[in-house]
Amino acid sequence: MKLHLPPRVSPKQFQSAMTAFAGVVGKAWVMDSDADRDAYADTYAPGSTEEWPASAAVAPANVEEVRAIVRLANEHKVPLWPVARGKNLGYGTAAPRMEGTVVMDLGRMNKVLELDHKLAYCVVEPGVGFFDLYDQIQREKAPLWMSVPGNAWGSVLGNALEHGIGYTPYGLHARNLCGIEAVLPDGDLVRTGMGAMKDNPSWHLFPMSYGPTWDLAFSQSNLGIVTKAGVWLQPAPEASLELVWDIPEVDDIAWVVDTITPLKISGLIDQNVFIPSWLGKMVLKGQRKDFWDKPSAIPEWRVAELLKQYKLGYWQVALRLYGEETVVKARADVVKAAMKRHLDAAPAEHWWRQGDPIGQYETTMGVPSAVPLQMSDWIGGRGAHMGFSPVVPATGKHVLDQMHRSRKIIADFDVDFYASFTIGGRFANNVNMLMYDRDNADEVAKMRKLFDALIVESAKAGYAEYRTHLGWMDPVMETFDFNGHALRRFDEKVKSALDPNGIIAPGKQGVWPANYAAMRGKA
Ligand code: ADP
Repeated sequence: MKLHLPPRVSPKQFQSAMTAFAGVVGKAWVMDSDADRDAYADTYAPGSTEEWPASAAVAPANVEEVRAIVRLANEHKVPLWPVARGKNLGYGTAAPRMEGTVVMDLGRMNKVLELDHKLAYCVVEPGVGFFDLYDQIQREKAPLWMSVPGNAWGSVLGNALEHGIGYTPYGLHARNLCGIEAVLPDGDLVRTGMGAMKDNPSWHLFPMSYGPTWDLAFSQSNLGIVTKAGVWLQPAPEASLELVWDIPEVDDIAWVVDTITPLKISGLIDQNVFIPSWLGKMVLKGQRKDFWDKPSAIPEWRVAELLKQYKLGYWQVALRLYGEETVVKARADVVKAAMKRHLDAAPAEHWWRQGDPIGQYETTMGVPSAVPLQMSDWIGGRGAHMGFSPVVPATGKHVLDQMHRSRKIIADFDVDFYASFTIGGRFANNVNMLMYDRDNADEVAKMRKLFDALIVESAKAGYAEYRTHLGWMDPVMETFDFNGHALRRFDEKVKSALDPNGIIAPGKQGVWPANYAAMRGKA
C-alpha cells in the first residue's frame, strides 16, 4: 500500500519521525515499506484497505522504549495506534482509525510475568496470546482455567481491553483486569490500584485504586498504552457438567432467556451462557452452497428442512456448570427442572471430572481455539464477517423485541439471519453475524448499508452496540445521545487535556482529540 501520511504531517516530517523512532527501537523495528503497510492493513475489512491505512508500524521491546516513542511522537506530531497482537478480526485487525496513524505493535512484549497458582491470577504483557498463556498454564501444571473468546488467536490483554467476551464464569474479560500499568500520552508511566505504591503485593488482587479507579478508563480507550496488567483466572474446578438442549422455535428464545437469567443473576449458573441460532452449527458442516445454492437469503421452508435433516433446534443452549461434583449435580437439577417447565426433552449431559482429558474445542472450559473462523468460509470467495452486537436487557420481552427488529431488517436486505445471545448477567449480548464475500463489491456495499440500518434502527428502540469496527466507531458513538452527547463531550474533554497533540489512537471509539476534531466522520 502506498504511503498515507497523517493529517498535517509533511513527507519530510514523517521521515524524520521514522528516523527518530529507529534511534529507539533499531531500524528493523520501524516498518514503513509498502509491504509493511500491507501487513498492518485491515485485509478483512468491509471495503478497501486504503480506507483505514497505517503509514508505518513501530515495535518497541519494553516499557522504556514505549515511553521514548510516545515522547518522540509528541515532538514530531505523529499519532500512534497501539495494538497488542493486532488480530481484532471483524473490528479492524491492526489497522488504525485515522489515516496515516503509525501502528505501535506491542507483540514483542510477550512475557507472562507472573502466574500465581494460589491466588489465581497472572500478570501479562500485551503480546501474550491466549495460546501462549494456555501453554504456560499447562507447562507449570497450574490448577487454573482461562476464559477465551470464540476465536482465540488474539491477545489476552488486547481482547480484555476491547471488552471481549468468553463463555466461562470469567467471561467478562475486562472485569478480570486488576492492576494496570500504562504509558500516558505525555510518556509518563502510571500503575493503577495498589500498584501505585512501589512493590505492593496486592496490586493484582484488590480491584480499586485509592481515589478514582482508572483501570477500565484504559479499555476501549485512547488515554494510554497498557504495558502490563493483572488478569484473574478461574481455579480449575473439581468437576464440570455440560447440559445441551436443542430449542425448536425461533420465538422460544424469550422463555429460554426468562428461564436462565434469574439463575444467572442468583449465581446458580455462573458462566456466560451462549445461545447461538442454528446457522452457528451449520457453518461448521460445509459451505452455504451445499445447503442453498441461490444468492437470495435461505427461505423459511428451507431452514425448516435443514433443521429436520440435521436434527437441530432453531437455537442451542449448551450450558456448563463448574465446581464440586455434588454441588454441580444439585445445581443441574434446579436448571433442568426450570427448563422442563417449557421443554419436555431432557438435555444431553456431558460430565468432566478432574483428570479427564479436555477436548481441543472446549471454549467453555477455557481452551483456546480458532474453529469459529470456519464461518469465514461459509460464503466462499474471500469470505468475511461483521458482527452487529447490541446489548439488551436479559428479559424475553427485550430479546424478542430486538430479535424481531434485526431479523426483519436483515431479511429486507435479503441476507441470512444468524444470531446469538450471550447471557452475561442482567444483560444479553446479541451478535448478528453478517457473512459476505470481500471480493463481491455489491455484497460489500449491501453489508455496509445493512450495518448502518441496524445501528440506526436499534438506537431508535434504545439499544446500542458494545463494540464495533473502525468504520462505525463514529456512528455508534453518535447513538449515545443523552444530554447532547454528554459522554462524548466528557471523553473528549479528558482526551484533549491529557493528550493535547492527539498522539494516542485519535478517533478510537469515536473519541477525537481537539486537534483532529475535523476528522470525525471521515473514513
Ligand atoms: P487481539 O490481537 O486480541 O485481537 P488487538 O491487539 O487487535 O487484540 O487489540 C484490540 C484493540 O485493543 C486495539 O485495536 C487497540 O485499540 C486496543 N489495545 C490493544 N492493546 C492495547 C494496549 N496495550 N493499550 C491500549 N490499547 C490497546
